[in-house]
Amino acid sequence: MFSYRHAFHAGNHADVLKHTVLLAVLRHMTQKDTALHVFDTHAGAGLYRLDGDYAQTSGEAADGYLKLISSPPEEAVNPKENKAPALQDYLDTVASFNKPGSHKVYPGSPFLIHHLLQARDRDRLKLFELHPTDAKTLAGNIAQLNAGRMVSVLQEDGFEGLKKFLPPPSRRALVLCDPSYEIKSDYTRVVAMMTDALKRFATGTYLVWYPIIPRPEAHELPRKLKTLANREGRPWLNATLTVKSSKLSTDKEGEVVRPGLPASGMFVINPPHTLKTSLTVALRQAATCLAQDKHKAFEVETGG
Ligand code: SAM
Repeated sequence: MFSYRHAFHAGNHADVLKHTVLLAVLRHMTQKDTALHVFDTHAGAGLYRLDGDYAQTSGEAADGYLKLISSPPEEAVNPKENKAPALQDYLDTVASFNKPGSHKVYPGSPFLIHHLLQARDRDRLKLFELHPTDAKTLAGNIAQLNAGRMVSVLQEDGFEGLKKFLPPPSRRALVLCDPSYEIKSDYTRVVAMMTDALKRFATGTYLVWYPIIPRPEAHELPRKLKTLANREGRPWLNATLTVKSSKLSTDKEGEVVRPGLPASGMFVINPPHTLKTSLTVALRQAATCLAQDKHKAFEVETGG
């Protein structure tokens, strides 16, 4: 059941999308002084080595974060254009975990979130991670922050565990839901969790990452989230980033080659009003920089 390890995928194009959106939303929400509760229902190990065995084996960061960082700004779209602020903020934030010019460490969502909250004692960050090894690594990584009561690691099911914390006392919350979708039931559990969460706390900001792959459950997930948000009368934003075709191909020996993950999406309920504009510029550049074939694309759709 638990074969997924984020260490193989850290810094890939899906992380570029997910972490750019996460940072843009959190930057906006931390402009207010009121305490904020942040929940990461599927936290992972927290920190990853891009020069370690996992990342080297998959090479996924080379087609994601590392590709983006090595594209000079002028190649982003046209010779006169700088990197979009949201993309630059993502790159600068990841770079702040490394020595200048080095890109060995990739911070996962728990560390990116903590980075933005760290000067705010009143905020709380709850991290759920069910995999025993990753939960232990995460707890060890978090311990080094000496963050005290501000950050908690819970080795629990994040879909279920969220319930007991909503609504938060401050009435301000951001929830990141980033499952691995290695089991089919994850798709239905995301919708069930979101349905319950909106009943408990309709004004929270919810971010759901999902893969765009040729599988009915994956195809239906954003549609179901749109229906849910519309039914509850909540505004939503759906951002997608495609880097290559999803079609199967054949190699020189005639063997079928699966394309790997071609695209993914971030569905945000109750997004900041500035998000659509900032992501439209950022994802246009990201799609150009990370394109693996002519099927590269992005979309930022809003509703509600
Ligand atoms: N959010 C992380 C980031 O952006 O750095 C990556 C998370 S990874 C995609 C998904 C994680 O969820 C894996 O580490 C997996 O072990 C964990 N996981 C799987 N099912 C879970 C569950 N029901 N509750 C909590 N964690 C779970």
